[in-house]
Amino acid sequence: MRAARPRSRARGLVAAVLALVAVRSAIPSSKPEAAWTVTAPASVRQGEVAVVDVRSDVAIASGSAALAGPSGSTVTRSVGFRATEAGSRFVVLIPIATTLTPGVYSIETSIELADGAPIHSTGSLAVEAVAYPSEDVQLNAANTAIRTDASPERLEQIRALSELLATVDQGAPRFAGPFITPVDSTRRTSLFGDRRRYIRSDGKAETTIHYGIDFGIPTGTPVRSTGAGRVAFAGNRISTGFTAVVEHLPGVYSLYYHLSALSVTTGQEIAAGAPIGLSGSTGLSTGPHLHWEMRVNGEAVSPDWFVERALY
Ligand SMILES: [Zn+2]
Repeated sequence: MRAARPRSRARGLVAAVLALVAVRSAIPSSKPEAAWTVTAPASVRQGEVAVVDVRSDVAIASGSAALAGPSGSTVTRSVGFRATEAGSRFVVLIPIATTLTPGVYSIETSIELADGAPIHSTGSLAVEAVAYPSEDVQLNAANTAIRTDASPERLEQIRALSELLATVDQGAPRFAGPFITPVDSTRRTSLFGDRRRYIRSDGKAETTIHYGIDFGIPTGTPVRSTGAGRVAFAGNRISTGFTAVVEHLPGVYSLYYHLSALSVTTGQEIAAGAPIGLSGSTGLSTGPHLHWEMRVNGEAVSPDWFVERALY
């Protein structure tokens, strides 16, 4: 919904029921009540993102949205952010894991206005199933050694990246799209959400989920940023080789793995389409490719969902 900011409480309520049943807390007050709307999709697919869009004629201070299952138990809680400087628009992005059981969930949005008044809104969200393919990946001795590396250095790299991707920094850039693919290639050697089985050189197998899209491209192919943002990490990691992470919004990151060269540094502000580096086969890799991943509030979601999309 792209309606202008509601001018009256009546109009705000009419808009709200289009998508969600909204309930304003009954707080005795002599002040005129704020006009506000909360909109969210009625359905999403596994691996997509539910965008909760809150508009108010009073500035919004903070807020979050919980996804609750049929039993009422919270599946995930996502922290939102001010989409505009004035705080009249607030967005919460709820990532839907590829492993979330399909069915009907509820979105419970809790907002605090700058004047201290709360907004609570509840709506239902249908999560639809996606058929994710399975694949086997043979690992040679070198890749098996990376996969089984339990060194403090590798464990610290994994911990630090997990912590970064779970960070929702209210001071982050505000790039809502449209996003672009990081390379022109349409040759995809692995897909998002693939149920992957690594066959190690010692014969043991491990199952994982592939969190990104692999583009099979020659080493040295230029890789561009899927959107504008700030480089949150640029460096070499044992598992993913030369790696860049770009922060686009509070809690929204794009990741680029296995590069042969980096052309960005941590902390740098970059434009959409800016050079990130050159593709390669560094880290745990069975051949030259780019691994491109998108994270929202720590959860891996479908990179394709972002392409040519403005989130709000
Ligand atoms: Zn990959």
